[in-house]
Amino acid sequence: MGTRRSKVRRSTKTSSTRPPAEGGESRLPAAETLPAVKAQPLPPEDGPRSAEPPAVHPRYAVRLDEDKIDPDVQKVVRRLVRHGYEAYLVGGCVRDLLLGGKPKDFDVATSARPEQVRDLFRNSRVIGRRFRLVHVLFGGGKVIEVATFRRNPHEESEEDAADPRPHDSTHLLIRSDNVFGEAHEDATRRDFTINALFYDLEASQILDWTGGLADVERRVVNTIGEPTVRFREDPVRILRALKFAGRLDLGIAPQVYDAIVACRSALELAARPRISEEILRLMRGGQARRTIFLAWETGVLDVLLPELAALLYDSFGSEGSPGDRVFRLLEYADNRIAEERPLDDAVLWTLLLLEPLKEAMDGARDRGAASAELLEPIIERLAVPRRFADAMRRIVAVLPRLVSGKVGRFARTELFELALDVAEADLYARGASTDIVASMRNLTDPAARPGPGPRHRGPARALAPAGRPRPTPRH
Ligand code: ATP
Ligand code: MG
Repeated sequence: MGTRRSKVRRSTKTSSTRPPAEGGESRLPAAETLPAVKAQPLPPEDGPRSAEPPAVHPRYAVRLDEDKIDPDVQKVVRRLVRHGYEAYLVGGCVRDLLLGGKPKDFDVATSARPEQVRDLFRNSRVIGRRFRLVHVLFGGGKVIEVATFRRNPHEESEEDAADPRPHDSTHLLIRSDNVFGEAHEDATRRDFTINALFYDLEASQILDWTGGLADVERRVVNTIGEPTVRFREDPVRILRALKFAGRLDLGIAPQVYDAIVACRSALELAARPRISEEILRLMRGGQARRTIFLAWETGVLDVLLPELAALLYDSFGSEGSPGDRVFRLLEYADNRIAEERPLDDAVLWTLLLLEPLKEAMDGARDRGAASAELLEPIIERLAVPRRFADAMRRIVAVLPRLVSGKVGRFARTELFELALDVAEADLYARGASTDIVASMRNLTDPAARPGPGPRHRGPARALAPAGRPRPTPRH
């Protein structure tokens, strides 16, 4: 029987081979290649792998570097297994280990129900109402998330089959996904094949129901199942596809690429805070330049930020143009991640919108009103938190003075450090010297003065939302 995957897989085509929407060659260079993985397949006990309920798990012998796997996660998995449950490392950590990267965090999936997990670990609590999972707490504030296997609520749902609504574009939208299932169902409900690999620690084997191992080897982003269906179910997956392709320097399977283009307007249906969070994630990923380019190339940017897309259509490609500077600003953000000096989210938003903002303010009699006029619809469309919008407005207002070295009273505000980052990015993007910013930093930042010790490490925290840990930057 054909697998779901065989319906979607064709040859791979990398994003960088596809011309931008307005023609011309992609000029963004590829990142250094990550080591590819070689899986040694064990003969699957039940013949060819299938996304339909398999009798036995399709297992492949792949030894991941256990030194890179958090020992506490290993303890959690092994304890669950000792008590007779299935438990695996899942999702991004398996993908990142296979691609030779360092996982940001580790997720565990298990056959145990949330209460059963909680009963096994004294230091744990069930969280979430609709989607219940367990947080196992360790010293130093470490939290390991343990989720019970779930399945796609659309599958085997009688409710859904009986749904009399016409199949319009919102029909597939997933609104709740808290239905427990089995391991293979938990794998196939996930978004991309590279995100659906389960690692069995005891056996040093990868469980792969969706062809994820082959896609890791081919370095390609591929949906599980029909891409247009998966993107209409949850349009945020479109941004996730771009994020993984950009961040991990992967190609996008041609039919997935075409589905992104075809389904991009479904992003208007997605929950706005999820969209803005996903934009921030791709800005923090260390490959913002490549990812935003991909978003432009696929027309996704026209849906999310038509102001920015229009500016790129107008001028990208001519040296020193606003369109060129957009990508230089993003390059600055990527460099800061590479230097382990991540930028505040307010700065990331400002860098993304700086060129359209400057263009709007240029020659305006009331520069404040001009920036507000540009920002208001964006804030509304993407639910950009007010504190970021206010910071953006104040930073762009003071920017001309800062880049000419005038500090004034602004140096005493909580935004000063963030504004210096924007000023440095702006000078960098224009190919100008950034010395003036360095000397302004020296004025205010004792850690930046010459002498022993690290220089200005970590993001400014002035705008971190209270009570919520600031997400760590992506690798
Ligand atoms: P990152 O390194 O950015 O955290 P990740 O793959 O771990 O990447 P998460 O957002 O942490 O991404 O999600 C964890 C896992 O949950 C994913 O690997 C994927 O299997 C699944 N997942 C996340 N979002 C979706 C989605 N929108 N639809 C289906 N599966 C998803
Ligand atoms: Mg993750």
